[in-house]
Amino acid sequence: MLPFSPPHIHQDIIDEVVATLRSGWITTGPRTKQFEKDLTAYCGNKATICLNSATAGLEIMLRWFGVGPGDEVIVPAYTYSATANVVMHCGATPVFCDVNPDDFNINPEEIRKKITAKTKVVMPVDFAGFPCDYHAINALVASAEIKALFAANNEQQKQLGRILILADAAHSIGAMMNGMRTGSLTDVSVFSFHAVKNLTTAEGGAVALNLPAPFDNEAVYKYLCIATLHGQNKDALAKMQKGNWRYDIIEPGYKCNMTDIMAAIGLVELRRYESEILPKRKQITAWYNELLGQTQWAQLPVSNTANRTSSWHLYPLRIRGIDEATRDRIMQDIFDRDVSVNMHFIPLPLLKFYHEQGYRMEDYPQAYANYACEISLPLYEDLSREQVEQVAQAVIRAVELNARPGIPKI
Ligand SMILES: *Cc1c(COP(=O)(O)O)cnc(C)c1O
Repeated sequence: MLPFSPPHIHQDIIDEVVATLRSGWITTGPRTKQFEKDLTAYCGNKATICLNSATAGLEIMLRWFGVGPGDEVIVPAYTYSATANVVMHCGATPVFCDVNPDDFNINPEEIRKKITAKTKVVMPVDFAGFPCDYHAINALVASAEIKALFAANNEQQKQLGRILILADAAHSIGAMMNGMRTGSLTDVSVFSFHAVKNLTTAEGGAVALNLPAPFDNEAVYKYLCIATLHGQNKDALAKMQKGNWRYDIIEPGYKCNMTDIMAAIGLVELRRYESEILPKRKQITAWYNELLGQTQWAQLPVSNTANRTSSWHLYPLRIRGIDEATRDRIMQDIFDRDVSVNMHFIPLPLLKFYHEQGYRMEDYPQAYANYACEISLPLYEDLSREQVEQVAQAVIRAVELNARPGIPKI
């Protein structure tokens, strides 16, 4: 069985993890701090904090901005549940927004329609690694008409004076828009280093701060170090310094710091990211485009436009003209041919919890249309050209055999 997304464990990763284990320091310490510096240098943003997940990073930033009961946060209907779950954790209301027909990302015009005086944050998701239209999204929240609606009710909200853009960049580290990398495209971006993501630390995430003046991003970084470590005014490394044992708790903080063992993996992966990981992902995407682009039914994913390039995290193939049941049959047939595929994502209104909250799929027709005909193909560094051909053949055979007669045969 060809797996969907196995981890690639390089000898350098093993060596760096072993060196960390032997170093006498395994939790947040020098390697985590180095990884944060390297990420900031790579992405071109202002400061970065590493945490144990993207989910923790998204939630802590909502809380930093003071999001709570009565507030609204706009999220795409088409995303992984973590994007909306963190809004629920804060007691605020997720407002779902429909997506684009071409690239699966949140539709800026739909965002405009969803903004109210209660909107505090918009959380765009760079689906499959392709950056959202931050040009349009940043301009929208900075426009006089939308700013006039914004009701600031704490210090952070007053300083920003508008809706915060908190990008769920779980898929998109290394992706670019107008020559700039994700992390530097909007106010705050949150990366995931989960095992299946492009750059992994097994579990992990990072908050890339890029707040405009008058924010002091370094000061926000220092506050976040405390807020994500019990609210303690010194971290474990500082407390270990000679005679420096006394600490204080300045707020009832969370506990979601990154360990140096995780950072050890990340340091090695980031060094290989531009030179090895991204080029291979781009190559595999090009192979699929070449092999599937010959059919009439394949709608290839958008990963490269005049001003934006993807991080090639997923290959979300769409099959023209099929319904959901046919897609499911095609997926089963592909599995029966010993190729693992996947589906990204089941739109939030179709999930039990969100359905029970009253969200309805018919209100997000494009999200449903994208979902009903989507199949994600394996995309990872260790795939060979032969394996990509094997996947493409399995997909082509499965579509030919299972698609309704309306689908043109190739
Ligand atoms: C993976 C993922 C997350 C969550 O990342 P974690 O690091 O597992 O918390 C959030 N949003 C999207 C779109 C994801 O794919």
